[in-house]
Amino acid sequence: MSHLEPGLILPDTGNRSWLSQFENWLIDLIFPPVCSCGRVDYHFCADCLKELQRFPLKSRIASGQPLNGLASTGIYAGILERAIRAFKYDGVTGLDKHLAERLQRTYEGTHWPIDLIIPVPLAEKRLDERGYNQSEMLGACMSKIGAIACRSDFMRRIRETDQQARLSGEQRVVNVRNAFEASDAVKGLAILLIDDVVTTGSTLNECARALKRVGAKAVYGLTVGRA
Ligand SMILES: [Zn+2]
Repeated sequence: MSHLEPGLILPDTGNRSWLSQFENWLIDLIFPPVCSCGRVDYHFCADCLKELQRFPLKSRIASGQPLNGLASTGIYAGILERAIRAFKYDGVTGLDKHLAERLQRTYEGTHWPIDLIIPVPLAEKRLDERGYNQSEMLGACMSKIGAIACRSDFMRRIRETDQQARLSGEQRVVNVRNAFEASDAVKGLAILLIDDVVTTGSTLNECARALKRVGAKAVYGLTVGRA
């Protein structure tokens, strides 16, 4: 498998994120934002942020194959779901550090021996729509908090897939099969995959398969929520 060159894999999101920020500003002007709690003029209000910060960690750690382990910071419901949705769909990117902190604390409880963080790559189409990859932001932020290297250019999607949310469990497995390609730079390393939500685990397992195909020693998955 080819070695992926840093910088060639992900499109330059610099202009795009500026543009999407401008678009968000314009949309806010015409349609004032409403927080999921109902408060107007906030995408995510201060009270909701406090609620998120108080929301206890409820990590559950499982093991399986090809993932060596899988953990989440809590169930995808209530304030955690609202925060993830605001972060992912409403452009409230400032939530990254709050969510990454939950990831870091959960990771510390696992005692997994990790060499490198890799965020789950977003489909090109989603990246175009959203302007940012939420998993990449979480990975980068967690990397800063925990001082573990993070490389988003070591894995990419090699084909377009349907949105997993619309599919059943079995369809999800088929949908993401062979959708990822990993750099052989991961050979011999223990990888921590980061994603916002895990449902059936088919995406994370397929990423793990791609990483192990090029010689990753172990692959663990960590998500903010589990559905
Ligand atoms: Zn609120």
